[in-house]
Amino acid sequence: MDAVPILLLLVLLILILGVALGLSIGALASEVEKRKKSKNKIVRICPKCGRDLTLMPEDIKRCPYCGNELA
Ligand SMILES: [Zn+2]
Repeated sequence: MDAVPILLLLVLLILILGVALGLSIGALASEVEKRKKSKNKIVRICPKCGRDLTLMPEDIKRCPYCGNELA
């Protein structure tokens, strides 16, 4: 009866693979979700010089790089 341990091993392997796959897919999905959220949050770019103003305070009236007035 050699088949039983091999079958058990296979089932275990498939289970482990399934869990690992599920975990990695879950991690990937949450990572994508995070990126989507952070992208949707505030994407501000100066229309004049094109610099990223995302890290600047939200209430700035002028672009700190070129002085362009922000709408
Ligand atoms: Zn600018």
